[in-house]
Amino acid sequence: MSGNLATVSYIGATILFILSLGGLSNPESSRRGNLYGMIGMTVAVLATVFGPRVTMAGLPWIIGAMVVGASVGLYAARTVQMTQMPELVALMHSLVGLAAMLVGFANYIDPAASVGLTDAEKHIHEIEIYIGILIGAITFSGSIIAFGKLSGKIGGNPMLLPGRHWLNLAGLLVVIYFGREFLHAGSVADGMTPLIVMTVIALLFGIHMVMAIGGADMPVVVSMLNSYSGWAAAATGFMLSNDLLIVTGALVGSSGAILSYIMCAAMNRHFISVIAGGFGTTSGATPVAGAQPAGEVVPISATETAELLGESKSVIIVPGYGMAVAQAQHTVYEITKYLRGKGVNVRFGIHPVAGRMPGHMNVLLAEAKVPYDIVFEMDELNDDFPQTDVAIVIGANDIVNPGAQDDPNSPIAGMPVLEVWKAKTSIVMKRSMASGYAGVDNPLFYKENNRMLFGDAKKMLDEVLVALKS
Ligand code: NDP
Repeated sequence: MSGNLATVSYIGATILFILSLGGLSNPESSRRGNLYGMIGMTVAVLATVFGPRVTMAGLPWIIGAMVVGASVGLYAARTVQMTQMPELVALMHSLVGLAAMLVGFANYIDPAASVGLTDAEKHIHEIEIYIGILIGAITFSGSIIAFGKLSGKIGGNPMLLPGRHWLNLAGLLVVIYFGREFLHAGSVADGMTPLIVMTVIALLFGIHMVMAIGGADMPVVVSMLNSYSGWAAAATGFMLSNDLLIVTGALVGSSGAILSYIMCAAMNRHFISVIAGGFGTTSGATPVAGAQPAGEVVPISATETAELLGESKSVIIVPGYGMAVAQAQHTVYEITKYLRGKGVNVRFGIHPVAGRMPGHMNVLLAEAKVPYDIVFEMDELNDDFPQTDVAIVIGANDIVNPGAQDDPNSPIAGMPVLEVWKAKTSIVMKRSMASGYAGVDNPLFYKENNRMLFGDAKKMLDEVLVALKS
């Protein structure tokens, strides 16, 4: 492939990526967005592999690596459970970071990479390598810890080392000092020591940064690492002088940054205080901190739930992580269809941090073919609860916790929540009294107009559907 054709293909791929991001901003156009992304990526890979910078001798290596990578990817995509998606995404981010690190070291060792460069160009190239490895290492280790936290292999408690901000500052100063040493190194062998020291510090910083962030703030970490992986890819693009990688990395980096901002706004947090760590508590089942709610918990049966639903004129369904665990979305839609057929106004209320990844609930509802026009964001629906007969909470907990509004000591104080308790009756579907991801007890369960439908969401909804139809 000629250089010109490769450049044109790169421009085409860039346009497709931008169209893809545009499409992904809305559920209705998201399929088209995905398609643009897939076509763009195919064009980008083909233009790179068959482009002017790959020699014939290199092709078997690239194709071999692609076969291995594609097989692992296909296997993972086919076997991963929907509930494991957030962990998989975190793991993928770590690979982008690892790639940036490895490319950085390879680029530094490769004598051909700096042939023909003037002194100034060589320095710029070395700065690219240093920053690329730095971002890559932070992304790599941070994403591995995020993977551990999301999969429950590492506890959700924020790990707050004494003097942690000073530790981070000291790390930064050491990184700057060794950056200077690196740039003044006379040979590759001399430069290796500062490069390795910086890499170790960056790896430790990545671990420390994510370990210090508590359960409730994990959504921001997920989107932030998404952003970092983009900047790591952009840094790789600079090292390899690959324009497409720079543009694509910048697109991922900036869209991830915007998503982090949206997540922060959704949780009423400042980005800096999230990154500084320490908010949120445990992801375990034991309630912690904040006032302990008191009162009586009133259980309800599936048949009684069906009766209440049958008598309602308006129903709001609030799905959460438990719906994903139970894979209850299809039954939810069956019930929705039935009720709508009877003239009931059924709508879905989606909290921005419901589930375990941005857009988690939207993906599940789209999979079950729930029409987009009855799926609303929290802000669009929150004022409607007082006029709602029944609000059904399916496997959600933190996102419907009134303590976020009423209890200033709650770890999730200030986070906007769906005000389901303002409906005439709220029904919470979950298996036990256990807390959600943030580890906070939920006063909603004890409210007078609240009922608890205990059991697996899918099983209970199946029973509700049978009772509704009989
Ligand atoms: P929560 O984690 O607060 O609550 C989920 C509830 O589902 C649990 O209390 C659990 O109770 C119940 N549940 C689990 N399995 C089932 C089942 N099979 N059937 C019925 N119920 C079940 O989820 P929310 O969606 O309300 O809130 C999301 C939380 O996750 C927030 O704290 C958010 O900050 C955090 N988070 C979000 C991310 C994102 O990007 N969206 C990323 C990382 C964290 P029980 O065990 O009693 O059944």
